[in-house]
Amino acid sequence: MDAQTVVELSGLTKRYGDVTAVHDLSFAVRRGEFFSILGPSGCGKSTTLRTIAGFESASEGMIKLDGTDITDTPAHQRETGMVFQSYALFPHKTVGENVGFGLKMEGVPQSERKKRITEMLATVDLDGFEQRMPSELSGGQQQRVALARALIIEPSVLLLDEPLAALDLQLRQDMRFELQQIQDRLDITTIYVTHDQQEALSMSDRILVLDGGRAQQIDTPRELYNNPRNQFVADFIGEANILQTRFKSATEDTIEVEPEFASMNTVSVMEHGFDADALSKGERIYLNIRPEDITIHPPEDDVADGLTAEITNKTFIGKTTQFVATVGNNQEILAEASGLAAQQSIATGDMVSLTWSRDDCTIIGDHRVWVLLNHASG
Ligand code: ADP
Repeated sequence: MDAQTVVELSGLTKRYGDVTAVHDLSFAVRRGEFFSILGPSGCGKSTTLRTIAGFESASEGMIKLDGTDITDTPAHQRETGMVFQSYALFPHKTVGENVGFGLKMEGVPQSERKKRITEMLATVDLDGFEQRMPSELSGGQQQRVALARALIIEPSVLLLDEPLAALDLQLRQDMRFELQQIQDRLDITTIYVTHDQQEALSMSDRILVLDGGRAQQIDTPRELYNNPRNQFVADFIGEANILQTRFKSATEDTIEVEPEFASMNTVSVMEHGFDADALSKGERIYLNIRPEDITIHPPEDDVADGLTAEITNKTFIGKTTQFVATVGNNQEILAEASGLAAQQSIATGDMVSLTWSRDDCTIIGDHRVWVLLNHASG
């Protein structure tokens, strides 16, 4: 095991009767890392986290914390601190008593407890709130108390289960930033569960994308966005045009495909880590292009290699304008343009040319047959 690894899952499977909530999951979280588990509702995020905390038992596989196998260790003996979406504070205890609860259980003397509670409340920006009752606090403040309560026992890993989901949008955005700052300052290894892709992209060092209890990709936010490994990830993270093509040939750094979505010549794509060795000529693969990477050329422009399309919808969304361009076989392509020129010079009904740089598109395989390249190693 890498000395930097704090949490390690190997082949974790969790079944509830006939339901397999988590399937053969392996990953390693490094010291000080902010690691998120992202996916739609019901994909197994909470189950994974609760199994690490020990609130659920593993059906198969192993969990290690700081190199020790804790798969069968009771929850209260694991060095983990957990924060839930519903703050789960003790309603009849003061803020100070809530925060100091874990220390009291550990038998830490009162004077020491008091000192550490004061310090911890300062860390979460709640100086002087010690004597308040939870009911006297806002949602954001209650969540900071829950965070302080989890952190005060100095856990090896902080486990956060959608901690911001109950807050309104503005507060959620402020808290994202605060949480990140606290995590960074304390340099605490953190596993963060969320269904909110923006939250995960903005806060994480690395993200595990889960679907149906199975790992889809483990990568940095930038890699997930720029280089999704399958259709699910491409669709789930941001907006994507996923276009059917057939594999033609591959050289060292370029893959050539024949579009099925329109009659146009072979398209070249940079290889971007896609392993084309196993593909045979004519096999179906997909071209993935982000809407903002497509340039729309107005009718009067003379573009040699563009894809001819008709603008069938135009929506102003503030900073940018979204266009739906329809090509050949009724394939719709989403394009996004910022700047006034595009907004003013392109109208619904126009015949335009679409172009993109071959650096900006990637190839993805079939969701069902894709072999996860980053499995476990990250
Ligand atoms: P998420 O956190 O991604 O929304 P969960 O981990 O809560 O997903 O749930 C994953 C799957 O496991 C779902 O199909 C859910 O219905 C099922 N599940 C979760 N907890 C239980 C339980 N205690 N008993 C039976 N099924 C459960």
